[in-house]
Amino acid sequence: MPPLRKPLYALFLGALAAPASAAQTAAWADLDARIAKALPGVIELRHQIHQHPELGNREVETAQRIATRLRALGLEVQTGIAHTGVVGILRGGKPGPVVAIRAELDALPLTEQTGLPYASTVRVLDKGGDLRTRGKEVGVMHACGHDAHMAMALGVAEVLAARRDQLPGTLKLIFQPAEEGPPLGETGGARQMIEEGVLSNPVPAVIFGIHVTAGTAGTFTLSRNRTTAAADTFQARITGRQTHAAFPWTGIDPVPVAAQVILAWQTIPSRQSNLSVLPAPVISVGRIQAGDRHNIIPAEVRLEGSIRTVSDEQREDVLQRMRRTAQHIAEASGASAVVDYLPGNYRAGYNDTALVDSLLPVLEQVSTTPVKIDSGTYGADDFAEYARQIPGVFLRMGATPPALADKPVWPTHSPGFQVDDPSLAVGIRALSRMTLAYMNAGAR
Ligand SMILES: [Zn+2]
Ligand SMILES: [Zn+2]
Repeated sequence: MPPLRKPLYALFLGALAAPASAAQTAAWADLDARIAKALPGVIELRHQIHQHPELGNREVETAQRIATRLRALGLEVQTGIAHTGVVGILRGGKPGPVVAIRAELDALPLTEQTGLPYASTVRVLDKGGDLRTRGKEVGVMHACGHDAHMAMALGVAEVLAARRDQLPGTLKLIFQPAEEGPPLGETGGARQMIEEGVLSNPVPAVIFGIHVTAGTAGTFTLSRNRTTAAADTFQARITGRQTHAAFPWTGIDPVPVAAQVILAWQTIPSRQSNLSVLPAPVISVGRIQAGDRHNIIPAEVRLEGSIRTVSDEQREDVLQRMRRTAQHIAEASGASAVVDYLPGNYRAGYNDTALVDSLLPVLEQVSTTPVKIDSGTYGADDFAEYARQIPGVFLRMGATPPALADKPVWPTHSPGFQVDDPSLAVGIRALSRMTLAYMNAGAR
């Protein structure tokens, strides 16, 4: 697919910075009133989605629920994109730019432990890439907050559809399957959504995404440039020669070799990366497997782990260094090492700096505390794929229920992760104000 042309959105950016007029203040108050009215329905919808989670590329019921809701709001609806993806288009009564908002449909193979009345009890056979759960029956849980993202996106659709005639532009809501990765052997996620045309007809000028995180409810963190990391998996095999544990000199012990390799890899971020140019990569070994018995030196050690990098160049560079390190350390002991790289679904993601700077005053008005600007996260999200095609802003919103604020943290992807319901209003306010501010500036 040829790369999409970046729209000349920069023309709009100056207008965004203009101070709020009395009419604008009244318009925001009207929007807030609509959000307050929509909130109970949004919360109920999130609870329903939360109670019926589905894994990547299997979000059939979830997609139906979304499509039904979008049709009820009078949006044009497309379904079946990249398996189960849904797009809703709200054409405003006035001309103006196309703004896209992306939400994700999928849940995770995790057994929920929140004890909430609407907790998931769903169990399915897992076909994903997680070795612990693959081929086993697992619980399914919206542990990444995608239920909240869907509910907020539908909330935005509802409040903007209510003043459709005055909307100066088109809202395109993209509900994407398999953000957490498709089942083994299948394709899916953001890249396939783009291949199947979600960024064309109409072409969005900009795209916004929001992700809930553990943190003070209703607070925002935003990066001016780099937002999310590339996430790739590696597998390494260190081969020696099996022997009796009492006579190690009669074989080649791959275990101390593996230990040296693991430690030496940590010098790639700390000693070999130019930290004055880019944030360091992260190399984490998540799995070590060797041997079957206490008194046998095994023939082989297998390592598996995750590599997080912040640019395409760094991604390639780290792999070369990991291979070189493992091979040479293994050779020093007469062992051998092979490092295989399994490219992941996630490339590094970037926010559009000018767009972030222009929208920051809008966000400051809705955040419960000053917006925190950071240099990005080592978490990964395939929102990056959209933001590599058109200017994007990916926001992170704290959403820990205040009652849990003093308890040990349950981050996303953990069985106790919870989302504060009232903070959904803050997210809807942020997304709808960003959308309207951008459209108003573009329509001038
Ligand atoms: Zn996730
Ligand atoms: Zn997520």
